[in-house]
Amino acid sequence: MCGFIGIFGPDGVDVAPEIYEGLLAVQHRGQDAAGMITYTDRFNLRKSHGLVSEVFTEEHMVQLRGHVGVGHVRYPTVGENRSEDAQPFHHTFPIGTAMVHNGNVTNFAELHDSMFAKGTRLNSTCDLEVLLYVFQQALAERYQAKGGSLDEEDVFHAVGCVYEKVKGAYSVCAFIADLGMVAFRDPYGIKPICFGEKTDERGRWFACASESVVLDVNGYRRTLDIGPGEAVFISHDRTLTHRKVGPQRHTPCIFEYVYFSRPDSFLDDVSVYKTRRRFGKALGKQWKAGGAPTPDVVIPIPDSSRDAAMAMASELKIRYREGLVKNRYIGRTFIMPNHQSRSTSIRRKLNALPLEFKGKDVLLVDDSIVRGNTSRRIVQMARDAGARRVYFAVTSPPLVAPCPYGVDMASKTEFVADGRTVDEIASFLGVDHLVYLDREAMNIAAAKGNPRLESFCNACFTGEYPTPDVTLERLKAIEDERGARRSNPAVC
Ligand code: AMP
Repeated sequence: MCGFIGIFGPDGVDVAPEIYEGLLAVQHRGQDAAGMITYTDRFNLRKSHGLVSEVFTEEHMVQLRGHVGVGHVRYPTVGENRSEDAQPFHHTFPIGTAMVHNGNVTNFAELHDSMFAKGTRLNSTCDLEVLLYVFQQALAERYQAKGGSLDEEDVFHAVGCVYEKVKGAYSVCAFIADLGMVAFRDPYGIKPICFGEKTDERGRWFACASESVVLDVNGYRRTLDIGPGEAVFISHDRTLTHRKVGPQRHTPCIFEYVYFSRPDSFLDDVSVYKTRRRFGKALGKQWKAGGAPTPDVVIPIPDSSRDAAMAMASELKIRYREGLVKNRYIGRTFIMPNHQSRSTSIRRKLNALPLEFKGKDVLLVDDSIVRGNTSRRIVQMARDAGARRVYFAVTSPPLVAPCPYGVDMASKTEFVADGRTVDEIASFLGVDHLVYLDREAMNIAAAKGNPRLESFCNACFTGEYPTPDVTLERLKAIEDERGARRSNPAVC
């Protein structure tokens, strides 16, 4: 899972400061590497490992000139995770194109083998490089056939070629030097992508991003959520064309609402915040209907479960308390390479307030349980802080299947829910009672924000993948690669 932003501003402005702000706003989507490329009469690129604030110095910002650019924060899923794998990627010949994406190309290896003659090598192991190559090759063919010119039809044609050849999940933003900016989303619309505009005394500005919070922080009005198989093109003269280019079967990722996105974002016109509140309300109803014990206090596991926990507490008519204090300067613990370092960093990240636990029956709420290590440690923390009983509620169903679309969760056998009943998971975690949000209730809660959304990708909860290209062999190949990366912290 990554975050990106693209900005096309009026002539003469520099978009780099807005791209920087946007990247800070989606830092939660990837903390491994960051990058930005802008265009004047040449490409200006800066990308490296690290947080946004570490990657860009004042010196880089001065050099990142130009009224069009794209930026990216990376959360590694596929690839060797070297600096060269950081995005953006660009080509200079025969047409200058720079690109960023969020997602995962599932037929990366096949595409690579079919497109590159023996001896030819890509510059990285990042799947975007292959996607860019497909796009660029389609454009270059048109460019040559037309004797060195291109227009928006050629850009839509190139997007169509990507839809035909590239499988998996991808939301993409690219700019083509001296031609315009294009944004598009895979035919299943798995990854989010939104679009916004603003006008000031200097002219019209256009922006696209993985999450609407990026538009908010830069003062854009969200005008569009790009649909599945759709593309938006802004030409050099600032004309906007929005078109259906490929097949459409919308199955946006439900896990974006559960965990990944910021609560202040809208995805496909659905508020993440309100969805999480609906998750909490539904979970409260389920808790009561199932005859679960009544706790004294509801305590969220910060941060993603807070909104749901508040709504759950109010549904149960029980006190809500912040009993776990988070050190906000520690990154997400999940991305630590191995169990030992993950355990240590959980302690570093969270501390219990005994005042809220001592002698009480406590209901902890979290957004998801993956391997169960985080939850187990937190449950122990609650007991150490004096809790009499510890109950646990999760705002999503049991995770059981790996995600080939860009969420790096776990291998099948690493999921605590793999082959265990809810009671067995409860005893693994050491809790007195455990309830997961019902899958149907979760989908209903998200769809309520936009009745046009008929279904969501639930693959990580069911093992049923919406795109037909996900075969057992492909899943195994992805798992093997992730496994190798995890067991070798040097490359993490
Ligand atoms: P675990 O100890 O493996 O059960 O970790 C569960 C915690 O990780 C939950 O509190 C989630 O908030 C968080 N989480 C879930 N999925 C991911 C992910 N793909 N990347 C990072 N963190 C995650």
